[in-house]
Amino acid sequence: MKPKKSLKSYIYERDERKCRFCSKHLKYHQASLDHYLPKSQGGTNDVFNLILSCKNCNNTKKSSVPDDYEELMINLFKIGVRDRVIKASLPRFSAKEIDHMVESIDRLEAIDKYVVFQSKTHRLYIKNNSIKKIVYIGSNNSFE
Ligand SMILES: [Zn+2]
Repeated sequence: MKPKKSLKSYIYERDERKCRFCSKHLKYHQASLDHYLPKSQGGTNDVFNLILSCKNCNNTKKSSVPDDYEELMINLFKIGVRDRVIKASLPRFSAKEIDHMVESIDRLEAIDKYVVFQSKTHRLYIKNNSIKKIVYIGSNNSFE
């Protein structure tokens, strides 16, 4: 499935019009979207797994798994929520509460049926650029 044009223009601006791998400046038509964690390794079409790359890097990278994909996906997820390209339709939580939970995420727990991000207190389930479910997992005896 080809990502929508609007998604590409978002990522083009987010990644400062540069290839993530070699930092080359790219014109819009030169830029391609690459799955940072390759699809063959379980990578999804979510905006936090899509990055801007030049055609050269896209070709040489193929299906290798970058060492820092967890960190990158966590960061891009946080940016995506801030930019409101990641939506949440969870009436139990206000946008402010969700923002707060998202900011404290520090690990990628799983990529399965959902992409699961986790903070010390919550687990967030994401699918198709949308937060589908939030589960409270306890606060480890802290009283925050
Ligand atoms: Zn490049």
